[in-house]
Amino acid sequence: MKILKFGGTSVGSPERMKKLLDIVNPAEAQIVVLSAVSGTTNSLVEISGKLLKEDKQAALSLISALNKHYNEFIIELLPEAEFFEQGQEVVDYHFGFLDSLVNDIFTPVEEKVVLAQGELLSTTLYHIYLKSIGVPSVLLPALDFMKTDEDNEPDVPFTTKHLMPILEQHKDNKLFITQGFICRNSFGEVDNLRRGGSDYTASLIGAAILAEEVQIWTDIDGMHNNDPRIVKGTKPISHLSFDEAAELAYFGAKILHPQSVFPAQKYKIPVRLLNTMEPSAAGTLISSESEKGKIKSIAAKDGIIAIKIQSSRMLLAYGFLRRVFEIFERYKTPIDMITTSEVAVSLTIDFTDNLDKIVEELHAFGTVEIDKDQSIVCVVGDFSAQAHGFASRVLDSIKHIPIRMISYGGSNYNISLLINTSDKTEVLKSLHNRLFE
Ligand code: ADP
Ligand code: ASP
Ligand code: MG
Repeated sequence: MKILKFGGTSVGSPERMKKLLDIVNPAEAQIVVLSAVSGTTNSLVEISGKLLKEDKQAALSLISALNKHYNEFIIELLPEAEFFEQGQEVVDYHFGFLDSLVNDIFTPVEEKVVLAQGELLSTTLYHIYLKSIGVPSVLLPALDFMKTDEDNEPDVPFTTKHLMPILEQHKDNKLFITQGFICRNSFGEVDNLRRGGSDYTASLIGAAILAEEVQIWTDIDGMHNNDPRIVKGTKPISHLSFDEAAELAYFGAKILHPQSVFPAQKYKIPVRLLNTMEPSAAGTLISSESEKGKIKSIAAKDGIIAIKIQSSRMLLAYGFLRRVFEIFERYKTPIDMITTSEVAVSLTIDFTDNLDKIVEELHAFGTVEIDKDQSIVCVVGDFSAQAHGFASRVLDSIKHIPIRMISYGGSNYNISLLINTSDKTEVLKSLHNRLFE
């Protein structure tokens, strides 16, 4: 069984949805994971924002604009009266539900339900479309088998346990469709795997059923060697190891959800990044194999805060770092980069909800300095001791830019630099020119 995930642009118009059958072969066993139609989740985020602020009028007009979009969508997707009616019923149901929220108490619990509507709509409409052209498929409700635990971590054994029997029940069927992004949390409430989470769904399902392969179909021909939104002339990378892909995803390569590589890596399921608009392009294969002696790609992640704790008394005493880390652990705040010296330790975070409380507790150790508006630039490739010379090329190419932190040697395949976000474009371009041109 293969898992094929299609992102927002890949299902972004009725025409695109119809064209999925150029890629999806109904005769092959597969689970098709769909995102919401592009723009939908952003609109739902906006609608929730208005409802949280009790701005009912603004919420209603946003809901009505989105409703109109879907009314037009189904005219083109489902021209035959019988199926159009089914589509209209689905659209009316979901928008009736959104309208009904406007006069009720709206909390983050309802917000999650609102965000789930996009994937529920896209998958149901696609299922009806397939029916309308006589292609049999089974719609699998992701909320029945995708779950996160108390720590908000996905529960893969739960998915195996609940998905396998459904697949077994439909063993004469080949084509299954399900929602990306959405899940239930440990309280049984509707939740999600964070923005861009459909990639994660695909990889988690792949792991749960030990799929043959996970394919992430998007609007570009694979992972490029730099951020194509910022740097001109980037090129697709034909192969990445799981570790390299995980670093790039985590440090900002938007093509992959930051966590999406791990389940596939754990269960050794190859992942292919492919282009819906150009299905024959080779794309990127992510697998356990790694290539030596190459710099592969550059990515950047914004919204980083650097925290420096200066404490000549305690720093090198054993137990000091543990006590620092415990504070971050208590506030469920992951640390991305860390560097130490005799008198200070610097680290970075990107989750800032508890920043004030963290800083307050850190003051017990000495002086604390905060730098906001930082970006991590991550260069991925073979940085093993044998491949000497790459690190100096990296640093040399950005010698005109102030660097706040450098992290090297944490793994063999990455060097990370912390810079001011205002320098990011220049850093990405300079690195690109020096490393790839
Ligand atoms: P989808 O909606 O299919 O999930 P995304 O927008 O989440 O698609 O991801 C694809 C986009 O990721 C591309 O259009 C591209 O602009 C962006 N991107 C950022 N960094 C990279 C990279 N290194 N390689 C390829 N795409 C990248
Ligand atoms: N629809 C969700 C989002 O826009 C999930 C996804 O597209 O992967 O974030
Ligand atoms: Mg995405």
